[in-house]
Amino acid sequence: PAKTMDELVSLCKRRGFIFQGSEIYGGMQGAYDYGPLGIELKNNLKAAWWRSMVYERDDVEGLDAAIIQNKHVYKYSGHEDTFTDPMVDCHECKSRMRADHMKDIKVCDNCGSTNVTPPRDFNLMFKTNVGPMVNEESYTYLRPETAQGIFTNFKNVVDSTSRTLPFGIAQIGKSFRNEITPRNFIFRVREFEQMELEFFCKPGEDEKWHEFWVNARKQWWLDQGLTEENIQFEYVTGDDLAHYSKSTVDILYKFPHGFEELEGVANRTDYDLGSHTKAQEEFGLSAKVKKNEHSTSKLAIRDLDENKWEVPFCIEPSAGLDRGLLAVMTEAYTEEELPNGTSRTVLKFKPHLAPIKVAIMPLKKNKPEIVALAKELKNKLQKLGLGRILYENTGNVGKGYRRHDEVGTPICVTVDFDSIEKEGAPVTVRDRDTMEQIVVNAADLPAYVINYFIN
Ligand code: ATP
Repeated sequence: PAKTMDELVSLCKRRGFIFQGSEIYGGMQGAYDYGPLGIELKNNLKAAWWRSMVYERDDVEGLDAAIIQNKHVYKYSGHEDTFTDPMVDCHECKSRMRADHMKDIKVCDNCGSTNVTPPRDFNLMFKTNVGPMVNEESYTYLRPETAQGIFTNFKNVVDSTSRTLPFGIAQIGKSFRNEITPRNFIFRVREFEQMELEFFCKPGEDEKWHEFWVNARKQWWLDQGLTEENIQFEYVTGDDLAHYSKSTVDILYKFPHGFEELEGVANRTDYDLGSHTKAQEEFGLSAKVKKNEHSTSKLAIRDLDENKWEVPFCIEPSAGLDRGLLAVMTEAYTEEELPNGTSRTVLKFKPHLAPIKVAIMPLKKNKPEIVALAKELKNKLQKLGLGRILYENTGNVGKGYRRHDEVGTPICVTVDFDSIEKEGAPVTVRDRDTMEQIVVNAADLPAYVINYFIN
């Protein structure tokens, strides 16, 4: 794994994974842009999450709700009142910083002065104006989590799919938080993506499902290549527990800057649906909610056994996509000493996450038959639907291997003179991890590649 953030940051920039946002204007703190390989990796991680959450289960539906929502969503969700971090000001250097949740800050992060204010609440939501009239009423916020769009669509999903408990709704999308001190590369940023599941169950079954999801989520991260020794659970208690949560387990990963939260799995009880439902008094809610004077819908589901309407409890595994990508890159990063005394950098991604699945390289860039066969193979493999297959005609295979090790391409295929001269059109297939090279006939290449990526 990577030992420092700097080695990751520099590889990400050099090879086109991640760039500082607005770089040509001096940058924008807490905003990053994903480059040609970053977007592939991100899409692959999202697809893996969606597969495991939606396709491989039969009790979860997908959703993609709007980022801009009615401001009442944030009034009743509690974000307008309580989505804050403690912030302190330094009287000496005038900088502001986030106070640690556990202990009040006493020394300025920036200049070391002890002349700092006591912590006060700072709301992390970005406020924005909607519509052509700018007045007291025309504001809303950019969503600070994707979850609220799931709760407000609860009834729509239940009515359109005829779901009964337990079932979940999954969503991936952008969230925005005006973090006081964004830091550690893409770990803490102001614009990021979340992968969230809200899993609805009967009250009384919530603890069982909470435990289930904590373990299922850990297993999923292991399947993405993270290793057991770099994952920890943190049981959130007392003051650190969000107001809506009955219990929360954070899944921590050993990032280059230390063990920190990768995903939170919270038991949100009936707080969210109870907050957004109309006729709150009918449901005997267990959570303490603000009286809702605006909702037009009962966010309840029929309990067929007892023939009554109830507001379900909710378990929420909420993962950060950017943090997930950082974790996967940290884990994959490998510096290897080779027998010949040189060394190489390899990103040992799991095959399904690799940004480029196969690179096809003609040995000679100006030999038409070699080039034609290489292009033909690229088109054939591309049609398999495994992800990006790259035809790369630089004429330097050795350099190509090096570059593809560094971006984690599992397979490189070289088309050479044998390929156009010998029967069966043999091509050389080189494995990223073992660096072994084998010869495969062109006609057998698709089957070889499918077998590699599917099994
Ligand atoms: P932290 O304590 O690190 O601020 P949080 O507890 O506020 O995180 P949640 O509200 O539980 O985070 O959000 C769920 C997930 O969303 C987090 O586990 C994390 O992966 C991701 N996330 C939250 N805030 C950020 C951010 N500023 N930048 C990147 N990812 C984030």
